[in-house]
Amino acid sequence: MTTYPEQANGGCMCGAVRYAVDGAPMSSIFCHCMSCRRHTGAPVVALAGY
Ligand SMILES: [Zn+2]
Repeated sequence: MTTYPEQANGGCMCGAVRYAVDGAPMSSIFCHCMSCRRHTGAPVVALAGY
């Protein structure tokens, strides 16, 4: 069983954009496409859609 926090917060690296979302995400995935790897410098990225 997956549990989620009541509210998730985040934002961009420079801090100009902040967000807060309530409830469980509609979808969540791990992506390892070239675009995600280049944008993050990581081998895989975790994404959630609200
Ligand atoms: Zn991707």
